[in-house]
Amino acid sequence: MTADFGKAQKKAAEILKEYRITKPPIDPEAIAEEMGVDVRYADFSPDISKKISGFIRFNRDSGNAPQIIVNKAVSPRRKIFTIAHELGHYLLHRDYAEDDNRYQVMPRSNFYPEGKPPEEQEADCFAANLLVPEDMLRKYSAYASIETIEKLAGIFAVSKEVILDRMRFLGV
Ligand SMILES: [Zn+2]
Repeated sequence: MTADFGKAQKKAAEILKEYRITKPPIDPEAIAEEMGVDVRYADFSPDISKKISGFIRFNRDSGNAPQIIVNKAVSPRRKIFTIAHELGHYLLHRDYAEDDNRYQVMPRSNFYPEGKPPEEQEADCFAANLLVPEDMLRKYSAYASIETIEKLAGIFAVSKEVILDRMRFLGV
């Protein structure tokens, strides 16, 4: 299987439309809660905390609402990206995310020792498209010069790397 970026892009666009979101910053926690997905912030033990950003659990057996668990110790922007990424799994990868042998929690380092699975690539693509929609990036970057990547990152509440990746990809 190879990553289907078109599918991830389309889903992000659908969500923005459905929730009538027209300007940044996009709040993926509010979207998740609207969908009935509970977002929780957790304290992990130090050895776990330094490794992971977060994960999703569906709780299908218990009948409880699905939950996105976010590491309390990561930066505010990393929290936002983590929620958007896990929301991508919720919308695109239910079978994958429920399979303990395949699903991978989101690492803090963005490093996957055995290579990044296609589902992880798609969830990142979904998150980038949800948080930094093309039309909004074009609009805001039109009056922000390259020196203000930091400013754009602030407007969209994502890291500078996410903005730079999006600009490179979209040719903005
Ligand atoms: Zn993931």
